[in-house]
Amino acid sequence: NSAFSHVVRGPEDPILGVTVAYNKDPSPVKLNLGVGAYRTEEGKPLVLNVVRKAEQLLVNDTSRVKEYLPITGLAEFNKLSAKLMFGANSPAIQENRVTTVQCLSGTGSLRVGAEFLAKHYHQRTIYIPQPTWGNHPKIFTLAGLSVKTYRYYDPVTRGLNFQGLVEDLNSAPSGAIVLLHACAHNPTGVDPTFQQWEQIRKLMRSKGLMPFFDSAYQGFASGSLDADAQPVRMFVADGGELLLAQSYAKNMGLYGERIGALSIVCKTADVAGRVESQLKLVIRPMYSNPPIHGASIVAAILKDRDLYNEWTIELKAMADRIISMRQKLFEALRARGTPGDWSHIVKQIGMFTFTGLNSKQVAFMTKEYHIYMTSDGRISMAGLSSKTVPHLADAMHAAVK
Ligand code: PMP
Repeated sequence: NSAFSHVVRGPEDPILGVTVAYNKDPSPVKLNLGVGAYRTEEGKPLVLNVVRKAEQLLVNDTSRVKEYLPITGLAEFNKLSAKLMFGANSPAIQENRVTTVQCLSGTGSLRVGAEFLAKHYHQRTIYIPQPTWGNHPKIFTLAGLSVKTYRYYDPVTRGLNFQGLVEDLNSAPSGAIVLLHACAHNPTGVDPTFQQWEQIRKLMRSKGLMPFFDSAYQGFASGSLDADAQPVRMFVADGGELLLAQSYAKNMGLYGERIGALSIVCKTADVAGRVESQLKLVIRPMYSNPPIHGASIVAAILKDRDLYNEWTIELKAMADRIISMRQKLFEALRARGTPGDWSHIVKQIGMFTFTGLNSKQVAFMTKEYHIYMTSDGRISMAGLSSKTVPHLADAMHAAVK
């Protein structure tokens, strides 16, 4: 008799569970649009050329050893990551007001930041957009924060509910933490305009709300790393404080390397130093120190001008392929005369389209067409190709008719 016989089976993760179901389906036409991972036109995972090159450099360098990294990770990686988001001439960096620690991709960065806030920040409430990435509420709740939502998406316009957002942030208690998707909001593909960002910034600063930026898609929204960093840079430019979780999963295709960073921008270098000492106390008992390989790849690319340029070209190609899939899907639906206005497919930004399909329609498409996606109707445009667009359009057409 097992000591664990009382353990009940937990539910499959709503996003990763889509892949589990997909893997079990023997159909040759099956299509996985659930997980947000880039695929080529041939439907294959992509390792960037520049990543292969960087790995080759690392392998050839026999002076490299496998010693532990410090608790805060690879120092060079941390510096370069801050620079990538805040900009080469960022006063916050020059004034040493930023502490950056290497973490386990975006998820680990969010978790470490949240644990720090739960321990050392006076407000335990974090506002997350409605809807948001499904892991957000779980990460923050388990870290000891109390999760509330602010209005974000308007299903009628399939755009931003800016008025609702402003109202909800306005009525948030002073000092509350606010999670902001830096760009390419997941799952909706809807971002504020720069003017709206500026209004959000002013409102948040006037109420003393603490920004916690989640940047999982820098470069994936517009194809430009600098353009996608703009909202974060606006908040840094005003001299105020903020947290930032960065992931290299999507923009360098380093998903399984689990490489990311948490930065905390502080008012002074002295505060930043003390904050960093406390981040170490969060990390040490959690996983001791982070893995070395992914950080070495990222650092090799970011510090070398040629490799960096090559990366931006490959990144732009991924972003452009996704944008062309939006156009193809939109045109395929129009050609079929599919009822409804599908212009949001081309208007939305980043990896995902929030189709507006309901869970019943999604279930129908999975059952009849072997197309897998999350039940909220989100499809990963990066999982589509010219060859699979017609099949998806047929399925959507049948689902809404
Ligand atoms: N935040 C958002 C909004 C995401 O979409 C993702 C990836 N799906 C992450 C964070 C974290 O991903 P990872 O831990 O793989 O970097």
